[in-house]
Amino acid sequence: MSKGKLIVLTAPLTEMIDHAGFFIQMAMASMPIWFEWVLNKKYPEWKNVKRFPDGTALIAPAGLRVVEEVMGREFGAENIAACYPEDLDNFVGPETRPLGVTFAAGVYTSIFGTSKQPVNSHYAELMFNSIKANPNRDGFKVIVGGSGGWQLLQTTNFRETFNVDCVIDGRAESADTVDLFRKAINGEDLPVTVEVGHPPGAEHIVFPKKPTTFGVVEMTTGCGRRCQFCMPDLNPQIDLPKDDMLAAVRSNADAGNQQISLATEDMFIWGQVHTDTPFFFPNREALLDLYKGVVETEGVEQHVLSHATMAPAVVDPKLIEELSNQLLDYSPIHVPALSSHPKHKALVPLIGFETGSVRMAKKVMPSKAVPFKIDDWPSIMINGLEVLNKNNWFPMLTLMVGNPGETDEDVKATLDFVYEMERRNLFGFLVPSVFTPLEGTRMENDHGIEHTKDLSPLQWQLIMQCWKMNMRPGMQSWWGPLSYKIGGLGFWAFRLRKTNGPNFTWAMMNFCGALPRKWMVKMGKIYGGTPLKIKTRKELLQTLRPHYWQFLREDNGDMPEAPAQAPRRQRTRLSAVG
Ligand code: SF4
Repeated sequence: MSKGKLIVLTAPLTEMIDHAGFFIQMAMASMPIWFEWVLNKKYPEWKNVKRFPDGTALIAPAGLRVVEEVMGREFGAENIAACYPEDLDNFVGPETRPLGVTFAAGVYTSIFGTSKQPVNSHYAELMFNSIKANPNRDGFKVIVGGSGGWQLLQTTNFRETFNVDCVIDGRAESADTVDLFRKAINGEDLPVTVEVGHPPGAEHIVFPKKPTTFGVVEMTTGCGRRCQFCMPDLNPQIDLPKDDMLAAVRSNADAGNQQISLATEDMFIWGQVHTDTPFFFPNREALLDLYKGVVETEGVEQHVLSHATMAPAVVDPKLIEELSNQLLDYSPIHVPALSSHPKHKALVPLIGFETGSVRMAKKVMPSKAVPFKIDDWPSIMINGLEVLNKNNWFPMLTLMVGNPGETDEDVKATLDFVYEMERRNLFGFLVPSVFTPLEGTRMENDHGIEHTKDLSPLQWQLIMQCWKMNMRPGMQSWWGPLSYKIGGLGFWAFRLRKTNGPNFTWAMMNFCGALPRKWMVKMGKIYGGTPLKIKTRKELLQTLRPHYWQFLREDNGDMPEAPAQAPRRQRTRLSAVG
């Protein structure tokens, strides 16, 4: 029998695969497990993972790779194995002490009413069950890290349920994380939870040397826009050195990983952190140089954007155009119905839209629009989308439903925005999710909607209108709308009617086009929307504070103008004539 590795690292299978495509990850976070057959049919190869000759995982999540690198430096690389969960028995033995797990299952609440068990939760459960059943379980400690760790803590009796010894909140580079692993190696008891600090600067951040899932290479930490609900924004704003990033890109490419994605909360802050220019005016030259370096690395064939914000697209449309020229050919994403690229390629960054209600935006994300005022949020979103769509960027636009204190007027404002997109023929994949308070954020004590039956008719209309909009590119055949109508009604009658309650009915009728929208509006069953007054880019730039004008690029046009000086009124002097 093998003695096992001193430290073994793993993650749920759904978080370790990457060859099946980018969209599968979203599907796994939102589709219930009984829907897995759809994924298996569409991506028959998704479970066929590759291994190094020693049996360890060829691909692993970037977070797990950082743990591997940090612990390798501390305890010897030969004593560590990062493996797929199905291979745990090959690496866990009597000499294994800590077993580290990263876990990032999404917090998406499924419209199918089985939010407790989307596909990725099922695979996480399989992994925890196999750890629990390991014959050497008494000899090692299970340490869980990653962005989903806090979800375990919210489960009653999580220690018994998941058989976990310690949940760690924070990064592997921290001395406290290394200490925790050392305690586990020495057989000491571990605390139930540990919170460790974030590296204060770029020089403390470790880059893994082995390939990562999706070829993820860290680009920035933190953000700076200070949205109340945001967890990553609590980390320091850091942009990582280009040379380290390109070395990590090369490591991936050398191991045969042809796809790269630079991980960031906002790609546009890179190159502009702690410079003389505010971070919300993108550093065009630096960004173009960085992305050029990535896609020109030998062996890199595909590049996928991660997160971005919308205001920079309005600030510097030329940057978007030039990034498209550089990156579009490397995108593995095709949107034939929309893209003007010869091969219909598209860039699909994830951008937080969150709400169309200015009142709500002021409350939960007052700085999201800087350098613009949040009062102009719908205009910024529309102008930004115009710039992006023109350059074949079709972003994923996340939005939140059921924010604390959300009124019907707020939901109507978001629906107005969605209808405005439709009227202007703009496209973004609208991804609604029900507000979930994240631990540690400025809104951690707020409450969201816990059951889909509690969503109001308007909230359901918004959610289903978003999905209806997302279907537009697929609706261009004669049979598309018909099969969609029949399938939607059937699904509603068979399952969703019971799961989601009566408030869901008319939203679903609207979604599948069972009746013309006009009729449903006339009958008072759904909200028909009000056209928005949208400012032009020039009008938006004119609202900027004059000291920001120096950071605008003239080649984008629309430069603000100082108001013409009013002619000085001649003082009339009463002359004493006399
Ligand atoms: S813009 Fe995005 S990353 Fe930045 S603080 Fe807001 S939600 Fe967080």
